[in-house]
Amino acid sequence: MSSIATVIPHFVGGARAEGTSQRFADVFDPSTGRVQAQVALATAAEVDAAVANAAAAQPAWAALNPQKRARILNRFVVLINEHMDELAVLLSSEHGKTVADAKGDIQRGLEVLEFATGIPHLLKGEYSDSAGTGIDVFSMRQPLGVVAGITPFNFPAMIPLWKLAPAIACGNAFVLKPSERDPSVPIRLAELALEAGVPPGILNVVNGDKEAVDALLDHPTVKAIGFVGSTPIAQYIYSRAAETGKRAQCFGGAKNHAIVMPDADMDDVVDQLIGAGYGSAGERCMAISVAVPVGAETAERLVAALRPRVEALTVGAPTEAGTDYGPLVTAEAKQRVVDYIGVGVDEGAELVVDGREGAIAGDEGGFYVAGSLFDRVTPEHRIYREEIFGPVLSIARAADFEEALALVSDHEYGNGAAIFTRDGHTAREFARRVQAGMIGVNVPIPVPIAYHTFGGWKASGFGDLNQHGPDSIRFYTKTKTVTQRWPKGPDEGGASFVMPQMA
Ligand code: NAD
Repeated sequence: MSSIATVIPHFVGGARAEGTSQRFADVFDPSTGRVQAQVALATAAEVDAAVANAAAAQPAWAALNPQKRARILNRFVVLINEHMDELAVLLSSEHGKTVADAKGDIQRGLEVLEFATGIPHLLKGEYSDSAGTGIDVFSMRQPLGVVAGITPFNFPAMIPLWKLAPAIACGNAFVLKPSERDPSVPIRLAELALEAGVPPGILNVVNGDKEAVDALLDHPTVKAIGFVGSTPIAQYIYSRAAETGKRAQCFGGAKNHAIVMPDADMDDVVDQLIGAGYGSAGERCMAISVAVPVGAETAERLVAALRPRVEALTVGAPTEAGTDYGPLVTAEAKQRVVDYIGVGVDEGAELVVDGREGAIAGDEGGFYVAGSLFDRVTPEHRIYREEIFGPVLSIARAADFEEALALVSDHEYGNGAAIFTRDGHTAREFARRVQAGMIGVNVPIPVPIAYHTFGGWKASGFGDLNQHGPDSIRFYTKTKTVTQRWPKGPDEGGASFVMPQMA
């Protein structure tokens, strides 16, 4: 037995399921540093039981007409909205992001659930009347069966919803393996789905670590894996899923740049960069972590304007009104950020604001780091090349637009990129030529709306279909194409030995 009173279980076959492994991971309250619960870590046998439940429930769910599935998903939307406050507080208590930001996390997931309620329309196939004499051809989209999602700590509501909503709308059964750092919200989402009418077994949550993930990857019944997390794990999951013949879409880390052109509105740029760089303690895959001012004069103005704003950030308890951002998720995450600041200094980048020494308004045991600002960061520096995932903004200066564009495009990661300018031609050139998947023009965090797709390029994404939007319907279904002929009477054509033609 765990010595901590609260043990977060699994959710299988429509009910909470205590773990049997006797293996647990600590779940912290990041704002105090104290362990608030433990989460059960599943064995391969427990994963197998969840997959078996899913497989048993899936055919009847797939047989419901899409409109009936949509009605159930609509009730799920209503229930999440009704429980918004409760979910946001729970999310914040395990993640450390502010309650207001936690609502944004839930809301952006909810939007994909709303998108998925359009499933009758989204599943419409293609039809070609009279493709040949008396021959019609049509395609239909059928669910894959049992599919799984493996999700990161930083959006414990949004990313599970991005995966599970289109998957179950398409008629699949889903097994979610959320992050072991903040597992409570996914369990509550599964309970609300059940309450909305999603049948038992269609949405299962298995908590765990590598053992559970590997069991999903190797399970022959699991037909597709959707992953979001760090790049090394994304690569591992992509290749191991491919070995066992599964579909996989695996999204990884990021280093998102924002180019600041000399003509940009500097007040607006600073507001946007402060929010996008430090919001959620920089623990967002679409956070801006590098600002690229074009020209020395722009750089001087940008640094002068950013410095006081970074120094004035309110870093404290996520439940306090007025907190800009809260703690990092774990002590290790905090230490990693502190270490990176040291690396940046050692490598010769100019530390303009040192977050290791900044004021913290929260509990001294919490995993807080104040905001840091580096100037004169170059591609030679590790703090430029590697993802820090913390409240650290780097300034990498460029002489002109072409140099800035090359800097962004040459980076190993290619999740998002933004430009701030008043010039339409420059913005258009940037959007067309930059090597990244999601682009913002005077928008610092260009997370696409639910009915477009989300996905990064290069080391930020592996697999060829994006998340949510039309790609998610393609990912969670297989296409069947029917060629049919209904002759009026007995066919007198006889056997044909040539390749069928549509003449
Ligand atoms: P992570 O890679 O540590 O964990 C992600 C998931 O993989 C978790 O469920 C975890 O339990 C599992 N996992 C971890 N190690 C594993 C292993 N060795 N074998 C099998 N499974 C393993 O990521 P994280 O720290 O939870 O999340 C932060 C990362 O996610 C950052 O790199 C961030 O950029 C990235 N992220 C990317 C996107 C995107 O859309 N590209 C979105 C959000 C977060």
